[in-house]
Amino acid sequence: QVQKFDYVVVGTDSAGRVAAAEVLDIQRAAFAADMLPSAASRRERLDRLYALVADNEQAILDAISADFGGRARQEMVLTELFIVLSAVRQQRRKLGRWMRPRRVATPLHMLPGSSELMPQPLGVVGNIVPWNYPCQLALLPAAAALAAGNRVMIKPSELTPAFSHLLAQLAAQYFNPAELAVIEGGVEESRAFAALPFDHLVFTGSTTVGRQVAIAAAHNLTPVTLELGGKSPAIIDESCDLAESAPRLAFGKLFNAGQTCVAPDYALVPRARVADFVREVSAAALAMYPQFAGNQQYTSIISERHYARLQQLVRDAQEQGATVVRLGAEAERPHDGERRMAPVLLLDVTPDMAVMREEIFGPLLPVLPYDTLQQAIAFINERERPLALYWFGRDRRNCQQVLGSTISGGVTVNDALWHAAQENLPFGGVGASGTGAYHGEHGFLAFSKQKPIYRQARLNGFGLFRPPYGRVFDTLAD
Ligand code: NAD
Repeated sequence: QVQKFDYVVVGTDSAGRVAAAEVLDIQRAAFAADMLPSAASRRERLDRLYALVADNEQAILDAISADFGGRARQEMVLTELFIVLSAVRQQRRKLGRWMRPRRVATPLHMLPGSSELMPQPLGVVGNIVPWNYPCQLALLPAAAALAAGNRVMIKPSELTPAFSHLLAQLAAQYFNPAELAVIEGGVEESRAFAALPFDHLVFTGSTTVGRQVAIAAAHNLTPVTLELGGKSPAIIDESCDLAESAPRLAFGKLFNAGQTCVAPDYALVPRARVADFVREVSAAALAMYPQFAGNQQYTSIISERHYARLQQLVRDAQEQGATVVRLGAEAERPHDGERRMAPVLLLDVTPDMAVMREEIFGPLLPVLPYDTLQQAIAFINERERPLALYWFGRDRRNCQQVLGSTISGGVTVNDALWHAAQENLPFGGVGASGTGAYHGEHGFLAFSKQKPIYRQARLNGFGLFRPPYGRVFDTLAD
């Protein structure tokens, strides 16, 4: 039945872009014609998603790198190719098991009826994507949504025009627009996209825009998965081995030049260890990146506007009394147009500085001293719930205390970022850092309706509950 949509021609606007509302109608009609796609057809779609990436690896890397003005190839191989291909493979391998109806225990008084949960696709899933991991954040939700039997519409970011255009072309090459389509455009198109009556909408981006997207979706009562940002703290415990932890923290901060939703935003460090911490983190950063400008393994800041904002954050903090520790020889930009920004550690910062109020999203690390662990925990709990939290140390009781008395989207103990790469752990924020989660089976579940079904037995005692009511009600609540 789906075959007939192979001949669908999607209309385009004057700029040659497909019209999102029209694609949604086409996808809805296609979904209505095949509401419970077979495991085989879902696998076949995932095979095409896999091929879309695997056949075009170099083109994908080139496009993303062009958008960033230089992005570390190795980072892209890991986060834009490997993680995506691995997730598609996992969804493909497991979907047969995940889509099977699951028996649920039936209480004694409802026997001999039986109960089950039937996973069913929701329909059309929309996905609004940020610029910082453009391929991963477009295709990971898409893989889970396709595995769960949905149709998918993707709106990539206007800040990655080369990749967005490539993805639109590849989508048209590997997919019927009735199955998966990419809608290009800027903020206006994103806003219109968010207002479409999807069956589910995924938004990955800032908390500010996430709030607007949630409001737009609420008008349609479209359920949302909001993958947002925030300030993720790293706690250095008294018991921390700095020689071991500093390189891990520096890696988490400087990967993608800090432009990672789960990047450690600031560090809380025992007061007596601040000097050692600064020395170890600086040494670790310089060991990874002997130089920053021109270093092909270090990623550029996405745009001039973002670069200027980060520089301004440092200047403002300095003017307000912060101590600025610049790493690398090239304190200022050595080449015209180069946006590889040397990292900056900031000491003596106060909570009212912009660098402590806004998500940093760049290679700046405020270092805040604490006197007691309770103080560090209170500092975190006075703020919005972070997307990630990192704890470095050996003392298990302190670790447990932090885990039990803070709430965050996820945690990596004794390293940074890695919980987000573990595909069997649900990934998502809490409160201001997001709603809902995906990855692995949690992705499949996020884009499925778990339909509860109770099957009544032919012979049962339910006649006792029909009027005229009898004595059974006298004993019910005892
Ligand atoms: P952003 O919120 O500025 O933009 C994200 C997307 O929203 C873009 O595609 C944009 O076109 C679209 N958009 C902009 N205005 C819109 C509107 N009014 N209605 C609908 N859509 C609109 O975010 P960004 O700068 O691209 O990305 C950085 C942010 O994303 C950071 O806050 C980061 O923490 C967050 N992030 C979160 C995750 C996560 O998984 N939780 C992952 C990556 C990035």
